[in-house]
Formats: sequence, structure tokens, C-alpha cells
Amino acid sequence: ANAHNEYVYGKALEKITAHDPNVAAYLDTCQEQWSRHMFDPAVCCDHNTTNFVESFNACTKPYRDMPLTEYAKKEVDERTGESRFCYATACGGGEFEVRDAHVNFPIRLSTRSCGCGKWQISGIPCKHALRVIYDQRLNPIDFVSPFFKSAAYKLTYADHVHPMSDPTQWPNFSLPTIQPPVIKRQAGRPAKKRKKGPNEPRKGKRNSNVKCGKCREFGHNSRTCKNGGPSTGPSTSAAAGA
Ligand SMILES: [Zn+2]
Ligand SMILES: [Zn+2]
Repeated sequence: ANAHNEYVYGKALEKITAHDPNVAAYLDTCQEQWSRHMFDPAVCCDHNTTNFVESFNACTKPYRDMPLTEYAKKEVDERTGESRFCYATACGGGEFEVRDAHVNFPIRLSTRSCGCGKWQISGIPCKHALRVIYDQRLNPIDFVSPFFKSAAYKLTYADHVHPMSDPTQWPNFSLPTIQPPVIKRQAGRPAKKRKKGPNEPRKGKRNSNVKCGKCREFGHNSRTCKNGGPSTGPSTSAAAGA
């Protein structure tokens, strides 16, 4: 399954055939599902070498005319500018050597890799690779990972959150119940009072629930009372009883 190419795969399959021909026959019908050499190169492009260019072209075809994301566009432009100081030498077989100042970097277009590592890691050709791409009159967009093409970018953010069924409808599973974390007691006496929100009135404010001794109205006391006496206030129920 770890075979990167058909030769190694064939050798491995021979061994399996010797063990059980039925298994080998079955495995051979679905190579792309278990053997690395048949994996979709769009998923792990760095690791495929066999028939890579054909697969690469087939995979990138739908993305050819897709615009790059803003980030990728900026990176390509920036690295294009830097690529002017690099010099590429073709080595044949899709391999190149690019000199940048006094350092040489090996480039392989088929695996989209450069000795500097930037291409593999970022998914966007480095300045060395761009030098080769421009020299070969190729389109740099074809060498940028599809992850940076608008189609993939939109797909990533296109999905919505799926509605969920009631827990009683969930499939059975035998996993341990996850418990809440153990609460560690903080230093000091625990606070008794709930912390009030910034817009909540403080308890100490008296203006709303103070009762006047003269007129028995709420909101002021007898010293600031503007009503004449107990009988003149509007809340007469208490006054009537007195
Ligand atoms: Zn490079
Ligand atoms: Zn009053």
C-alpha cells in the first residue's frame, strides 16, 4: 500500500498472490482505494511520481481558468519580481537547476518541488520555480495548488451547518460519557453575591424604594417632601387607614 509506483506495487501484489490469490485479485480491482501509487495526486501531490504529469493535467483542467485568491495572486506577483534575479538551467526530464545569487536549487516541475522548500510548503511556486515556469512559457497559475483557486476556496466556505436530529435518533455508540472538568477551588472566600452586569442598578440606590414619612409616597423622604401632608398624596390607601 505504501508503493509510490506501479513496479513496487506489482512486486507487493505478487507476494499477496502467493499468500492468497483471491485477496490479491480483489485488491487489484480497487487499487486507488488502498495503494498510494494510485491516490489522487490532488490530495498529496508531493508524494506522487508515477504518471504524475498526466494525472496533474487531468486534475487541474477544471481549475485552469479559475482565478487565484487574493493572497495567492499577491504571492505570485511578489515572487515573480524576485524571480528576475534567478537563472535557470534545464537538466532534462522536467528537472532544472536554478541559481539564486550563489546558491543552486534543484527544481522538479512534475512533483512541484524546489530545493528551497517554499513551493512544497506554501503550494505556490517559489521564485526559483517561477523562473523556470516563465522560461518554459508555462502559466504559473497551473502550478499553484488548487487550494488557492477560487473554486476550491468557495467550496470551503459554501457549506452550511446541517440540521441535527434529536439525540434519541442518534446511532448507538459505546464511548465513555465525557464528564465536565474537575473544578479547582480558588483561593479566598467564595463570593456570595452574584456579579452584577454593567447595566444593572446597584442595590444601595435609595431613590426608587424609599418611602416618604409624610405622604407615604415612594421616591423621596419627608425632608424633601413637596406634598402638604398624608391626606394630599395620591396613594391614599395607607393614609385612609391611619
Ligand atoms: Zn525555490
Ligand atoms: Zn412625601
